[in-house]
Amino acid sequence: MRIGLVTYKPEKVEGYDLHVYYSKWTDGQAFPAAKGMQNDVTVLCDAKAIREDPSLVAMSNTGPALRKNRRSNLAFDFVCPTHPAYRAKALNYIEGLSQENILGVTLNLYHFPDQEYCVCSRCVEKWKQSGLSWTQWRAQTVTELLQEAKERIKGTFAVEIYPDPVLAKERYGLDLDAIGDLVDYFHVPLSSRDYLTNYWTIMLARDFAASLKKPVVVELSAEMPTDEKLEALLKTVAYISRHKLDAVLLLVHDSENARQVCRYAVNNNDLRDWLEKYDFGEMNRIIDGWTKQY
Ligand SMILES: [Zn+2]
Repeated sequence: MRIGLVTYKPEKVEGYDLHVYYSKWTDGQAFPAAKGMQNDVTVLCDAKAIREDPSLVAMSNTGPALRKNRRSNLAFDFVCPTHPAYRAKALNYIEGLSQENILGVTLNLYHFPDQEYCVCSRCVEKWKQSGLSWTQWRAQTVTELLQEAKERIKGTFAVEIYPDPVLAKERYGLDLDAIGDLVDYFHVPLSSRDYLTNYWTIMLARDFAASLKKPVVVELSAEMPTDEKLEALLKTVAYISRHKLDAVLLLVHDSENARQVCRYAVNNNDLRDWLEKYDFGEMNRIIDGWTKQY
């Protein structure tokens, strides 16, 4: 199992094998490609674009896909997946990244906000013309968007998925079987403020490792200011390392935050003994690697 980072800065950090850089954010900010790294692009969540043109937003019968519409518990503002001009702009950005010397592209938030979206007149018209069920049409719409993106992407192609192993297709239009034919790996964010309660993390990591047809990379939040939270994070990484994962990615504020995780692990003899005692060989191998650099 590899250990990697998800970062907001285009910098590699010693001790990590895989580097994922957020090159386009949910607020609409888009940055130049990070060379030699996996560039992670938010596709349909774009608060800035929706502010500039409110007609872009995905719609439900109870209002738009905006954070301020609290009938839907959305963390971001979503553009309608069939808006032709927005799609073209997003795909152009992805194509531009791929012209640089990057490792590959990961896409996130390229799907419907939830089951009741999108009922704008364009989507309803397309759905009726398709002759498909609501669920099938929405899944096909998302898969086609990924197919179009894949044609423009050079290198490793990955997608993030909402961590719902049961209703992903009905709610978000994520046909994980069809998407598995397109991607090199799945990136599953299991974000939390801490992992002091971690059973759900281990359960979902195991579910996805067992059910997806391509390699699985799990992302955990590592913006941990306290020793207690760092300890819980590292033990959670140890538990999920027992399942068939290609990598665990740590989401950090910055490079110093990433180094803090390594130094904590290297200097914590109790943690090393605990990992040894309970046979977490894979995790001990990762920390052994860190001892050479930290
Ligand atoms: Zn729509």
